[in-house]
Amino acid sequence: MRILLTNDDGILAPGLAALYAAVCDMGEVQVVAPETSQSAAGHALTVHGSVVVQTVPLPFGARGISVQGRPADCVKLAYRQLLAEPPDLVLSGINAGANIGINVLYSGTVAAAMEAAILGMPAVAFSLAVGTEPDFPRAARHCRAVLEELLAADLARPGGMLNVNIPRLDDGEPKGIRVARQGSGRLIEQYMRVEEVDNCEAYRLTDTYGFEDPPADSDIAALEAGYITITPLQADLTDPAGLDVLRQVSWKPKRHKA
Ligand code: MN
Repeated sequence: MRILLTNDDGILAPGLAALYAAVCDMGEVQVVAPETSQSAAGHALTVHGSVVVQTVPLPFGARGISVQGRPADCVKLAYRQLLAEPPDLVLSGINAGANIGINVLYSGTVAAAMEAAILGMPAVAFSLAVGTEPDFPRAARHCRAVLEELLAADLARPGGMLNVNIPRLDDGEPKGIRVARQGSGRLIEQYMRVEEVDNCEAYRLTDTYGFEDPPADSDIAALEAGYITITPLQADLTDPAGLDVLRQVSWKPKRHKA
């Protein structure tokens, strides 16, 4: 099995190293990841200027391809250009920090896996809810166990993208696995006014945030309750209810006078 491993925290991130160590005996693992942290880059692509790539030694012994671009650049470029053959599976992570609720839309970790799904490859994004001291090797063992179950049940399918979150491991092992929907409520967040920059007022988004009223069946509630969450995601953002409403309208073509 050919596995492409990527992330959004950068090619030297400990989460990527831990995931590599946990899955490297499952097949041929190739690392193509951003050179620097691309957290909250979402599904951004580099369209202005070139994307520089470089083969680099990785701290865990292997070599990987470092990309001066976004997570989605890494997957597109790997698939279209860098790899001799398309991977059988694409893994993204392990991200430092959960990717649940509406944060899924901002996540570069999720975007990398989604890009793989769009290109027709089975893909799984892994993220760890960070407590006091993130234990990536321990989280990676849970990722491996989930991955084995997904592969055994043939659930990692082409075009499908699975978003997996590991709960904080500070208080013990996860209680189990829950299949959950993505929460879509807004964030409770705050900007902090910081020192002026170039004589202009400046703000910084603080890293303490919460989710407004997460539904009980959401990834947010399940992760908070100590479960590993699995959420199938799709690229199609169409709102089916909105589609129904709009289709009932009798749209009249407007005639313009010549
Ligand atoms: Mn990240």
